[in-house]
Amino acid sequence: MMLAPSTGLRAGDTLRCIACTTSVVLMDVPAGAARPACCGRAMLPSRPVPCSTPRLFLVGSAGASAGAWYADAESGLVVRCTRSGRGYPVCSGRPMTQLDDRPDTGLWA
Ligand SMILES: [Zn+2]
Repeated sequence: MMLAPSTGLRAGDTLRCIACTTSVVLMDVPAGAARPACCGRAMLPSRPVPCSTPRLFLVGSAGASAGAWYADAESGLVVRCTRSGRGYPVCSGRPMTQLDDRPDTGLWA
């Protein structure tokens, strides 16, 4: 399957890191948002993490934490980590801000 260009991001899509186990779900995708990266590589579309995956929502000691929200204040992109990994999401070269809860949608307008 051919991968869509970076403009093909949609809320609800799952992206995974190709270098570590980090997976995220796109929550808010503003127009023109850049594809998040992890471990220095663009994250790739993935199937949603199955509920049976034992490591789902296991909080890692470093890197991305499953269950945490990550936001890029500049573009408005918001993702939620569904699987921990050693890396963390980066948007347009900027490390995304980790949040413990869902950000107010108006905060990024
Ligand atoms: Zn990674």
